Parts: sequence; structure tokens; C-alpha cells
Amino acid sequence: MKKVLSGNEAFARAAYEAGVGVVSSYPGTPSTEITECASKYKEFYTEWATNEKVAMEVAIGASLGGKRAMTCMKHVGLNVASDPIMTLSYTGVNAGLVAIVADDPNMYSSQNEQDSRHYARFGKMPMLEPCDSAEAKRFTKEGFAISEEFCTPVLVRSCTRVSHTQTVVELEDRVEAPKFAPENDIQKWVMIPANARRKHKIVENRQEQITELAESDKYNPYVIRDKSIGVVCAGVAYNYVREALPEASTLKLDMVWPLPMKKILAFSKLVDKLYVVEELDPFFETEIKAAGIKVEKLERSLCGELSADAVCALFEGREYEPETDTSLPFRPPNMCPGCSHRGMFYAINRLKLFVTGDIGCYTLGLLPPLKAINTTVCMGASIGMAHGLDKAADGMSQKSVAVIGDSTFLHTGINSLVNTVYNRGHSTVVILDNTITGMTGHQPNAGSGCDIHGEPVPKIDYVNLCKSIGVNPDNIRIVDPFDITKCMEVLKEETSKKAPSVIITNKPCIFADRSVIEESYFIHEDKCSGCTICTRLGCPAILWDAEKRVAHIDETLCTGCHLCIKVCKFGAIEQRSK
Ligand code: SF4
Ligand code: SF4
Repeated sequence: MKKVLSGNEAFARAAYEAGVGVVSSYPGTPSTEITECASKYKEFYTEWATNEKVAMEVAIGASLGGKRAMTCMKHVGLNVASDPIMTLSYTGVNAGLVAIVADDPNMYSSQNEQDSRHYARFGKMPMLEPCDSAEAKRFTKEGFAISEEFCTPVLVRSCTRVSHTQTVVELEDRVEAPKFAPENDIQKWVMIPANARRKHKIVENRQEQITELAESDKYNPYVIRDKSIGVVCAGVAYNYVREALPEASTLKLDMVWPLPMKKILAFSKLVDKLYVVEELDPFFETEIKAAGIKVEKLERSLCGELSADAVCALFEGREYEPETDTSLPFRPPNMCPGCSHRGMFYAINRLKLFVTGDIGCYTLGLLPPLKAINTTVCMGASIGMAHGLDKAADGMSQKSVAVIGDSTFLHTGINSLVNTVYNRGHSTVVILDNTITGMTGHQPNAGSGCDIHGEPVPKIDYVNLCKSIGVNPDNIRIVDPFDITKCMEVLKEETSKKAPSVIITNKPCIFADRSVIEESYFIHEDKCSGCTICTRLGCPAILWDAEKRVAHIDETLCTGCHLCIKVCKFGAIEQRSK
């Protein structure tokens, strides 16, 4: 049966068809939906892990235990998981293990634009790169076979355009995976230096064998059309090349590492001019040139994503300006109306605190009018950075706070809080606990009280957790983020202390618990002084009528969160039902 699937749905389907036993992941756009879709299959176990390193380790344990295992993450997640996967390359696997990593060229929702192909070379692991959903399914299934044949983890690289584009996929039945008994092989699985030295040689030998596979007819097909131009490309860039240059000969690299250099050389001899079209880093180009094969120069930016138009522009030697659809209204990113983070950010802004921020919806607290974030580096960095500031600049801990979400705190923030306590820091940490992983689309986490299937599970008690790692109970405060006065009072008290403090907010994301939505508010035009204080909350439901010079509430957006009535000194805002 044929079905139209997104790339992410196809990756999940591959897990089903390949007889996978365990999928463990941490959400991250553009990879999140793979695990969400996988969780709908009852034939295998799925979970949200606390971070990508943990997810990778769960997958390794599952492979060791004899079940095919998959883990999915975005490119920056692979940084977090890089520690175990680098050594997994040495141990090898038992049952097949595939890690899907989704890059985000143009950074639609990411803090950097790294190119994950480097990890394949760095870790000496094969990497496959599909160009559409059909290949996403096929390559993932083949990834398990390669993993088992060569005793290696296999990386499958996606990108936003493959993960979120829908194409036709032929559905197949689930086939039970080959049987693997749990392994107890110390020489294989314990990477003390003596074993690791031996394994390094095996890894190098494995690379050569996989290179032979890459050279075989099964992978990396080339098609000779017009011989004047030959293009080496992979993944989504292949689609762009086929559309932009339908007559050009192409060598499509299904396996983007290791590279089939003999095949590339043979292809280069069949065409007059050899080009490489790839997004982000000149990964293929550097390798191909290093092998002594001439590559024609294309003046290409190393930033952002390609398109068929961009490929046309490259070959015509003209500047490429992506077309923007001006029919769409400009909509700056903003926290949702009723977001539980807004009040705390407003309080932080009023106190003019320096904020080491983190990754999540609350990163949007950076934007005007809240302007309450000063740094964002990576998941979990806020607390460590606040501690560094504290140690480097006298008095900074009294003027700064680290702000982090619940999911990010569990991801990698907690380690930094342990470090702060252990090293006698003075930072104040604000955990914005909205009980869900908001930014990636509201996935549950260990603080939500339910698992990936919505089944009840134990819920993290942040107060007891912080106490247990040594934060003085007097310095752990719970506040209602919609109570701005209280937030300011608590922030002042805790930042003044010469000890680690933790402030925990206690209101859910508006999408985690819709029962918090109340009757909307409206503004009495005749009472409104036009002071603009309510508009400085940055709530998308509060609009400014420039002609009348009064504020106005869009009641279709208002969730009745009460925040605006707390700032209006003129009693101009009232709830509809009252
Ligand atoms: S999804 Fe939830 S946490 Fe994120 S901005 Fe919207 S209300 Fe806030
Ligand atoms: S805070 Fe009150 S008085 Fe000021 S603009 Fe808003 S509604 Fe009008």
C-alpha cells in the first residue's frame, strides 16, 4: 500500500518495519515527530529520555540486550550524545543501532547551523542521507542491516526539508529482526585502554570494508545524462539539482560517509566538468579535492539552505536572493497569550537583572518589550554561565539570574546546579516549570507526571530534588509567575543572598493544561489612560489603537491569565463575565 508520509513519519515507519525493539529520544525540531509517530506503534517500546546522551545510552543498552534500537535527535542533540556514540563506534553493537540526526540549515529553530556529516567522519561511522520520505524509510531499514553486518552504529542524516516534507512511501509489513542474545563480552564492551587499542584497529579495518560497500552498485548511483556537467550531491540537494539542472549527470551519494572515492573518480572521468552541490560545509568538496580530483568552483555561501532556484543561481554565477512571500503578514516570534513565563520575565525586566538564558519557549523573553535575556548558548548552559559570572565578576550574582525551563533543567541544567552548590556559588536559578517541553510541541518530560503515551508516571519534585543536592531549603521558593509583585519580591530576596537559590514557577504551559483558561478580558476605552504599561507585557492579545491612543484586547486570543490587570493602575481592564 502506498501512503503519503512526511520524512519523520517515514523514519518512524522504518522502525516499525525493521522490527525495532526500543526507541529513545529527546525532542528537538526538526526531529521531534519521528519519536512521536513511533510511539503510536504498539509493537515496540518508545520513550522520551531526559537528554540525547541518555537516549543514546538507552539505545546502546537495548542493542546490547539483543533488540534493534533507534534514537532520534536534532543536530545539536548529537553534540550532547557525542560522548557515548564516539565510544560506541569502538565497542560496536549487538543488535542493530541507528541514530537519526536532523540538521537545520538556515536555523529555523536552532542556535547554530552545524553540519552533522563531520560526526560520521570524526566517529568513523557510516552515514546515510535520504532525499525524501521513501528513502528515509529505506535507508533507515538498511541502516539496521549495515549496523549488524559491520558491527557499527549507523547515522542517518535528515534535514528540515526532508523531515517535514511529504512524499509517497510504499508501506511494508513489519519483519521480525534477526535474533541477538544479550551480550556479555568484556573485551568488546569494556573500553579500558587495552581493549580500546585493539578495537581502534578493528574500527579502521571496518571503515575500509564499509568503503567497499559504498563503492558497490547498491549505493551511490550515478546517472550519465548530458556529459558537459556532472554533479556530486546528496539528500535534499540532489532534488534541487535534478530540478534546476535536469540534463546534468549526477552522482547521488546515498552513503555520505565513508565516501566512494573510486566511484567519484570514475564519474569525474565521464563528465567534462565536475561540480559538487551541497548545503552547509564543503564536506564532499574538501574530501574530493584532497583525493586529487578536480572540482569546478561554485561561489557558494556556507550559510543557510539551498533550493532549486539557488542552484540555478549558482550555475549562472548570479547572486541569489530568496523570494519572500509578502502576502503573509509579518508575525514576530512571541510567547503565546497566557504563557506562564511572561510575568516572571516582566518582573526580571523591571528589576533590570542580567539573565543567562537557556533553550526553550522562554528564549523569546529576549525580544522587546520584555528584553529579559542576555545570553543563550545551548541546552543547560544558563546555570553554569551564571556561576562563571559569579566567580568572575564581583557582585554579579546579586544582579543576575539564570533562567531555565523544566525540561532543560532535567536535560543538562541539573548537573550545573550541582556544580554551583558544590563550588559554593551564589547564583539564583529560576526554573520556569510549565510541566512540559513547550517549544518542541508539548512533549511530556520527567516533571509532567505522564509518559510518552500519556500514562501516569512519578513526577519530579523540584523542591526535594534541589534540597537533595544541597540547596538550603530556605533558598528554594515557589512563585506564581502571574503574580508580578511577588515575583519581584522573591527575586530581590534571593539575589541578595550569598548562597545558591532556586525560584520555581508553578503554572503550566497554556497547552499543557487548558483548564487554566478563563473568561477573556476587555479594556474600558474611557478608563484607559494610554499609559502603555499593559502593552509592555508583550502579550499578543493586547493591541495598541494608535488613533484613539488606547490599548485594546483581542478577546479571541485572550486566555484570561490576569497578568494585564496586575499592571494596569487605572482599573481599565475587566474580565468579560464580571
Ligand atoms: S507553548 Fe506554552 S510555554 Fe511555549 S510560549 Fe506558548 S504558552 Fe508559553
Ligand atoms: S495599563 Fe491600563 S491604562 Fe495603561 S494602556 Fe493598558 S489598559 Fe490602558
